[in-house]
Parts: sequence; structure tokens; C-alpha cells
Amino acid sequence: MNQSSTALAEAFEDWLGDPATEWNSLSFAGALELDERDELPAAGIDQVRAFGFNRYFVPERLGGDLRAAEDILMLTRVIARRDMNVAVSESTQVWMMLAWIGGDAEQQAKWAATVLHGGVVPCLAYSEPGHGADLAANRFTATPDAGQYVLSGEKWPINRGRTSTHVVLLGTTGDEGTPAKRRQSMFLVDRSQVVSGEVTGVPRVPTYGLRGCDISGIAFDDARVDASARLGTEGEGLELALRGLLITRTFCTGLSLGTGDTMLRTVAGFLSDRVLYDGPANEIPYVTESLANAYLSLLVAECESLVAMRGLHLYTEQFSIWANLAKVQVARLVDFNSKVLSRTLGARYFMRSAEHVGTFQKMLRDGAVVSVFDGSEPVCLDSLALQLPALAKAHGHTPDEDWRRLYDLRAELPAFEPDRVSVFGRGRDATFASLPALIGRLAGLSPSAGCDEDRLAALRGRAEELRQELDELLARVQEVRQWTAGLPAQPSASAKSTPPRLIRVAEELSALHAKVAALGVWLFNRDHLEEFFADGEWLEAALARRQIHQYEAGDLDPSTARHLFTRMNSQLADNEFFSVRRVRMAEPGAREAAGRDHASTAA
Ligand SMILES: Cc1cc2nc3c(=O)[nH]c(=O)nc-3n(C[C@H](O)[C@H](O)[C@H](O)COP(=O)(O)OP(=O)(O)OC[C@H]3O[C@@H](n4cnc5c(N)ncnc54)[C@H](O)[C@@H]3O)c2cc1C
Repeated sequence: MNQSSTALAEAFEDWLGDPATEWNSLSFAGALELDERDELPAAGIDQVRAFGFNRYFVPERLGGDLRAAEDILMLTRVIARRDMNVAVSESTQVWMMLAWIGGDAEQQAKWAATVLHGGVVPCLAYSEPGHGADLAANRFTATPDAGQYVLSGEKWPINRGRTSTHVVLLGTTGDEGTPAKRRQSMFLVDRSQVVSGEVTGVPRVPTYGLRGCDISGIAFDDARVDASARLGTEGEGLELALRGLLITRTFCTGLSLGTGDTMLRTVAGFLSDRVLYDGPANEIPYVTESLANAYLSLLVAECESLVAMRGLHLYTEQFSIWANLAKVQVARLVDFNSKVLSRTLGARYFMRSAEHVGTFQKMLRDGAVVSVFDGSEPVCLDSLALQLPALAKAHGHTPDEDWRRLYDLRAELPAFEPDRVSVFGRGRDATFASLPALIGRLAGLSPSAGCDEDRLAALRGRAEELRQELDELLARVQEVRQWTAGLPAQPSASAKSTPPRLIRVAEELSALHAKVAALGVWLFNRDHLEEFFADGEWLEAALARRQIHQYEAGDLDPSTARHLFTRMNSQLADNEFFSVRRVRMAEPGAREAAGRDHASTAA
């Protein structure tokens, strides 16, 4: 029988053991020590691999264990909460998604067997030193020659540039006469199968965070590879790259959730033990409220992530918008928390050693990467801004449907088919489209013990505001475009001309999206989740925020702050993830599993 994603996460937790226990391969103390030496925890990586982590990136139809997108989210979250170095290094498995999107049947069978056999460490080589986010300007060449391609050029900065076994890369196959969009092709290169020429690693770069990761580069010097290394057709590279990024951006939410959990857990734990003014520091009302707000942000980030995972199964074609919304907003929720939690932790936020809660500092540095790589925040917002006219046009035209499958965390999902992802989703977004139906469902609710008529009335008012805000934001798209068109042409040497005001609309829509996701999750799960969740007090507080990721001192009603704080503390004490559901972490003091291969024992 298939395991639920939460049961899988719990099994993985047990497999890795308690990270607070330093003799485990993936411990907080060990991660800190190695980070100071710019090293990866090799034993921790072995432990992750022995679980069969790679199997969750190969679709079930090809013999792997990739059944639910949520499995990847949860597994990544489990690793990231321990050590982002390992999460970022090992989740390069996700780049094999390009084979499932662009490969033919023969390539897919071959790559699936190779990955499942183990030992495949892919890297993604899109960036070039001189071109950054402007992938269309890339200069790396892939020249066809007698049934082979000759690869030349440098890719940088690349995670696992030196230590990968396989490289997913973009190379120029077209010439100056080829339209820029069709100039590059996609390749999946097995470094051991390069026929002639050289492939070398470019030295590692010392980094602000992820200090153990192999952030380096890779250089190809007339390296010949068989033509079967090409994925998709010649000239299809950029399109495949963008489609792949839409899936991987969505999975980045797992990294944010993992680091966000540990940052809050570390600060909350420290302040509950610290005695000031005759009592625990976490009882200072300002501290209590800060922690409560940070907890609330994690719940919203989780709702946005879980709905996006379900969306990947149900509305894969819509991810040209959705992936950007989810990546931007979940990272923003966690990044805003990290600022507040730094202040709340106090002087120790500036300290790196284990005895001074250095894990927080490390998570702060490492977690910051999410809004930088895999499509930085400006790039994601720009992509959203460009699709706003389509979103505005499609608004109100989506036929209503049964939204249960999207929001009910128990509902069965169809298979996840990554190849259905599309560069342009024609302005559709199921979360926004569901809003009128969510408002209707809310209108039909009857008061219950924890959720009285006043709460329902407040929630109905907030939900109506969401509808108005969505209408206003989408109306603003047209206004901004007309306003911009009426301005005298501004001198600019850049071909990129997205008006900042449209980017602002994209930002506000990202925040709104997470609110709608939280409302949907609440409406469809309150019958089976715990009282705290069903009461909806957390939701009312979330919807009351203007921008969902931002909060200020004094925003929360003191009793709501206390309610959130109590719930956070109970999940802390019960060793559960900060979550709308109960998801158990490894028991305190638990040793990692030893001496077996989880993949074979679970089979
Ligand atoms: C730790 C780490 C790991 C990485 N791993 C990989 C990897 O494995 N593979 C890989 O290919 N790359 C990787 N990168 C590169 C990463 O994806 C880069 O962010 C990307 O190449 C963009 O380049 P850049 O950040 O230098 O910014 P540039 O593209 O040089 O942009 C400079 C600034 O211009 C602005 N800007 C750029 N584009 C837009 C836009 N469309 N709209 C609005 N503003 C814009 C932004 O403010 C941006 O910060 C990694 C980077 C880091 C830090």
C-alpha cells in the first residue's frame, strides 16, 4: 500500500534520527562544525542515500517511487530542517525531471534505470559567468558533428559543478540567424561517457551560506558526446529549461519550510529556557507575540506549499504562474520570519558556535539562498508580471468545479505527470479561480463550538475582501499598462522593460494567493484536523494581515497571540513539525537507523 506523504516524512525522520543528538550523521552540531570547515557531511549524505532518496525523483511508471509531489516536499523539508548543505546538494536529483519532461521513451527508460541503480549526482548547468538570468544570451556551444555534439564553454556558478556525475546543460546549437528562443538545446551528459575532449571542474566559490556545498563551475573543452545526450529537439532547450524550472521552483518551498521550522524551533526553545525579569523570556508579551506571528507565517507557508503540490498533479499546465507565486511567497514568509526571529533571539543571532545557538545563524545564512537561485525573486516576479495581462483576461472565465481535490489533504490525486507543464499557462490559476466557490462554501457554514457566529462573520468579511483585492489588482494591470503606454519613452539600454508597477502587482498577488490557499485548506480540512485548526482563529489572524508575510508588533489580539503561542509550544514539546497537521519528528535522543538499506527493506 502507498504511504501517505506524512507517514513517509515520519519514516525518514526515524531513519535520520534526532538532529540534536550529535552522534547522528545529520546532527545540528556536526553540520555546524563541518560548515566552519566548508565541508559537506559525507556520512549524512550516505544516510540520506541509503534511505533511497533518489527513488522519489523517478516516476512510478518508470520503476521509481515518485507518486506524490508532496513526497518530495516532505522529504526535502526533513533534510533542510537539519542541514541545507545536504538538502541542496542531494536534491539536485530533481534535475532528472528534465528527462521525464523532454526525453523520449528510450531515454526515459535508460535514465530511470541509471538513477535507480544509484550513484547519479546530477547538476544543472544553465548559468554562465557573463549572462546570469539572461539565459537567452548564453554562449556555451554544442556543435553537431557526425552523430555527436562537441561541447565547449563554461558554466558558473553551479551547485555540484565539480562533484556531479551527470550534467543537465544548455548549449547553443543554432547560429546568429536562429531566433534567440530557438538557439539552444538541452543535454543530459553522463560525464563518464564523454567520448573525447575534456570536462573539468571550475574551483569552488567561498559563499555566504551553504558553505559546505560545492558551489563551483564546470568547463567543457571540445568535449564530444553522443547525440543521444540531447533531450528534446534541437532548439527546444530554452523552452525545456523554463518548463523544468516551473516544477523545481515549486519544490523549493520544501527548503523554505525546513529552514523556517528550525529557525523558529531554535529561537522558541532558547527563549523558553532563558530567564529574564523573574520569568522565561518567551513570556515577555513582545516576544510571545513575535513567536506567535512567526508560527502563523509557517502555517500559511505550509498551506501555500501543500496546495501547490496538489496543483502539480491537478493543474500542471498552470504552473507558469503558480510556481512563481509559490516560490516567491513561501520564501518571503520565511525570510520575513528570519528577520523577526533574529531580533527576538537577541545577541546570539550574531554568533556562529553551537554553544551559542549557532544553528540559527547557519539556517539564516543557508535559507537565504532560496530567494536567490532557481529563478531569483526578481526573475520570478518579472515572469509573473509578464503573465498578468493573461491572468486578468482569464479572470472570471474559469468554469466552477469541485475544488475538494485541490484542498482536501485526504483526497486522491491523479498521477503527477511533469511533462504536462507548459511555458505559458494562458493566465489560468486554479487557486484564484476557486475563490468564489470558497466564499460560497464559507457562507454555508454553521457555527460550531470553537467557531462561533462572530468568527464566521469575520472570516466571511475577510474572504470578501480577498475577492475585492483580487478584482482591484487585476484591474490595476490594465491601468498600469495604459499609464506606462502614455509616458514619454524612457531612455534605457536594456531590452527588459517590465514596469516596476507591474512587478508590484505581481508581489501583491503572490501574497493574496497564499491567503486564498490558507482559506481553501481550512474550509476542506476542518472536519478532520484538530480543534486549533478547525476553530479558524489562526486563519482570521492570517487574513487580517495586509501583506501576508508582514506583521508588526501589536497586530495580534493578545488572546490570539496566546492561542498561537500555546499551539506552537505544544508542537515543540510533542516533537512535531510546525504544521496544520500532526507530523511527528524523530524522538528526542533517537539514533539514526543503521546497517540496512531502507529502499530494499521497504520494498
Ligand atoms: C548558491 C548558488 C547556487 C547556484 N546554483 C546554480 C546551479 O546549480 N545552476 C545554475 O545554472 N545556476 C546556479 N546559480 C546561479 C543562480 O541561479 C543565479 O541567480 C542566476 O544565474 C542569475 O544570475 P545573478 O544572480 O548573477 O543575477 P543577474 O542575472 O546578473 O542579475 C543581476 C540583477 O538584475 C536584476 N534582474 C535580472 N533579471 C531580471 C528580470 N528578469 N527582472 C527584473 N530584474 C532582473 C536582479 O535584481 C538581479 O539581481 C546559483 C547561484 C547561487 C548563489
